[in-house]
Amino acid sequence: MISHLVPPHIAAIEPYPPGKPIEELERELGITNSIKLASNENPLGPSPRALEAVREKLTGLHRYPDGSAFYLRRRIAEKLNVPMEGVVLGNGSNEIIELVIRTLIRSGLEVIIPNPSFLVYQLAVQTVGGTVVAVPLKNFTIDLDGILKAVTERTRLIFINNPNNPTGTVLSEKSFRNFFQKLPSDVALVIDEAYIEFTPPQSTFNGLNFVNSQGPWVVTTRTFSKAYGLAGLRVGYGVMDPQLASFLHRVRQPFNVSTLAQAAALAALDDDDFLERSRAVVQEGLEFLYRGLDALGVRYLRTHTNFFLIAVPVDAKKVYEAMLHEGVIIRAMNAYGLDRYVRINVGLPEENERFLRAFAKVLEQFDQ
Ligand SMILES: *Cc1c(COP(=O)(O)O)cnc(C)c1O
Repeated sequence: MISHLVPPHIAAIEPYPPGKPIEELERELGITNSIKLASNENPLGPSPRALEAVREKLTGLHRYPDGSAFYLRRRIAEKLNVPMEGVVLGNGSNEIIELVIRTLIRSGLEVIIPNPSFLVYQLAVQTVGGTVVAVPLKNFTIDLDGILKAVTERTRLIFINNPNNPTGTVLSEKSFRNFFQKLPSDVALVIDEAYIEFTPPQSTFNGLNFVNSQGPWVVTTRTFSKAYGLAGLRVGYGVMDPQLASFLHRVRQPFNVSTLAQAAALAALDDDDFLERSRAVVQEGLEFLYRGLDALGVRYLRTHTNFFLIAVPVDAKKVYEAMLHEGVIIRAMNAYGLDRYVRINVGLPEENERFLRAFAKVLEQFDQ
């Protein structure tokens, strides 16, 4: 045993809950045609324009990617009306989260993270030996006053996930602005907007409006994994003050976003038709699912995005297992401290129907 070579702050990390490939689950359970509503992915598949762009790039795969991702960064900057020097691309927006943490945090410094929220924030902070300060949600919503109270001289970074995964809740523009004005200028704030494309703009604030160079430094992160249907390619970005961006560039790998990911994202960015269809399938699916759950007398949390929490009468893992046997993969929320909740994302109409049928059957099973 040479595991003592692993520093304590690494050994203490709880692994991210692993999932098996669908094919493997199906083989083990002897089922076919299962559906997955567990990872908030786009049920329509990838943007068709992105697929076409990927095909065109295949013959160039012997070359390294463009390490500066020039065309993609330029187009993102144009679309969002921000300076190109403030756009940093990552291997998924997960990498932007990691880069911000690796750039700003070391042992002895504190990072404030709402709880429950995206599990990756905590993992990334622990990896560099930073201290996680968890602030519980209030009514399933990020508690901005609680966060302000948790700020100390050692606080360097705060995470806001808007809409918040796993609750689907958003913050109002007014409450966020009020919070932002009270923050000390020497902290940085990540506003993770992975699901913002699904949220009607009038329901919340736009993180880009808070990016500035005076402080608090704001990094708004967005992704091609959800609304653009490219989770498997791994590409996302952060928008920030160009000076902060220059530090992230020093920390990142020189070729962190693949050729195919860059090409697909560039094409997807202008695939307005796909984006519109993605939003529509989510809106219609949500209404259908809410009606179905209401009819079953099940409690759930109304969401501002493409996934939501559903209350279950027994341990969520049991519901997950039972649903799995019906060929419907959902997420048990135990790892988030919500033992009596499952999370699903909206699927295609036939997937939503199948979910409701399976869920009704499973609930009956646990009713006795
Ligand atoms: C899915 C998700 C992301 C996106 O991660 P990628 O690395 O871009 O795929 C980021 N934040 C949250 C909260 C998410 O749920």
